Amino acid sequence: MSTEKHSGGCHCGRVRYDVTMDLEKPVIGCNCSMCGKKGTLLAFVPTTEFKLVSGEGSLTSYKFNKHIIDHVFCKGCGIKSFAHGKGRDGAKMIALNVRCLDGVELDKLEIKHVDGASA
Ligand SMILES: [Zn+2]
Repeated sequence: MSTEKHSGGCHCGRVRYDVTMDLEKPVIGCNCSMCGKKGTLLAFVPTTEFKLVSGEGSLTSYKFNKHIIDHVFCKGCGIKSFAHGKGRDGAKMIALNVRCLDGVELDKLEIKHVDGASA
């Protein structure tokens, strides 16, 4: 385990955040209508481990399906660097787009494929 602090954000730099997480844990590659198009790699982290540093006012929201996840994205560049969601137990979670972390080595990530399309 190597839980570390990482920084990340959108493309234009308005949205910035810090997150404490373990990138050695598998991340989620989902094939649902949203992730399939975006190519998002997700990791769910507790809200306590996530801090939005800037960009609150630049975020706009898109909800679909059961509205469980609040897909926020940057108004400036359109990048969805994270989303607000809920865990199975109803606890608030952050669905982080691992691709948006600074310096993340995508080749080293272990990807767990989730069949969100048929869920
Ligand atoms: Zn942006």
